[in-house]
This record gives sequence, C-alpha cells and structure tokens, in this order.
Amino acid sequence: MSRDDCIFCQIVDGDIPSRKVFEDDIAMAFLDANPLAPGHTLVIPKAHHETLEDTPEDVAAHVFGALHRLNTAVEHAVDADGTNVAFNNGEAAGQEVPHLHGHIIPRFDGDGGNPIHAVAG
Ligand code: IMP
Repeated sequence: MSRDDCIFCQIVDGDIPSRKVFEDDIAMAFLDANPLAPGHTLVIPKAHHETLEDTPEDVAAHVFGALHRLNTAVEHAVDADGTNVAFNNGEAAGQEVPHLHGHIIPRFDGDGGNPIHAVAG
C-alpha cells in the first residue's frame, strides 16, 4: 500500500481528523475510532512503515519509548488496573491497517475480557 492510500498517513497529515493525544517528530498517538475500552490508544510512526520488519530499528525504538510513556498516562487517565499492549504484525496476525501501530487497551479488574480476543478484534 502506498502512503497516499494509507488512513494512518492521512491522519498524520491532518487530512482525516483524529483525537490526537501525543505527537513529536517521529511518533504520534491518537484514540482508536472503535475502542475496545475507554482510552484505547494507538501509537504509530509518522513515516509509513507497514510492519515491524519494515520499520527501522531506531524508529521502532522511538515508537516503543512513546508507547511506554503513554501507557502510564493512559492508565492514569482512565484509572485502569492494567493494559493490553500489542502490535498485530502482518495480515495473518490480524493487522487490518497496514501502517505499524501499537495498541494500548486499558483493562479493569473483573472486566471479563479475553486478552487475545481483545487485541485481535
Ligand atoms: P489492527 O487490527 O491492529 O490493524 O487495528 C487497527 C485499528 O485501527 C482498529 O482498532 C481500528 O478501530 C482502528 N482504526 C481504523 N481506522 C481508524 C481511524 O480512522 N481512526 C482511529 N482508529 C482507526
């Protein structure tokens, strides 16, 4: 998929609206449009890399650093008891949007969710 056809690139460019929670030169985070829990957040590289294998290590490390800080912020913001943090990497793994993204999905004691189903959708 080219950058022009990528929804997350269009979000980065501001052509599709998003509820942005973080941005720097390399990474961006916004709320998931179909949240599995309140505060469900996606963290992406701003450049178009489809999978982890396609992503330069320094960019992946930067995205993970942002994800690390945002995980704490999201947990506090929605008073979660834990989070599922995951990358669906590749179509076979349930990746629907071919632009690398990490999910932060808040979890609450007794919410009854199944972590694998929560991530795979
Ligand atoms: P995947 O299955 O890991 O690729 O997850 C893609 C995620 O992107 C899903 O949780 C969708 O709800 C989310 N999503 C798709 N389009 C948009 C959008 O335009 N804004 C925010 N989230 C989106």
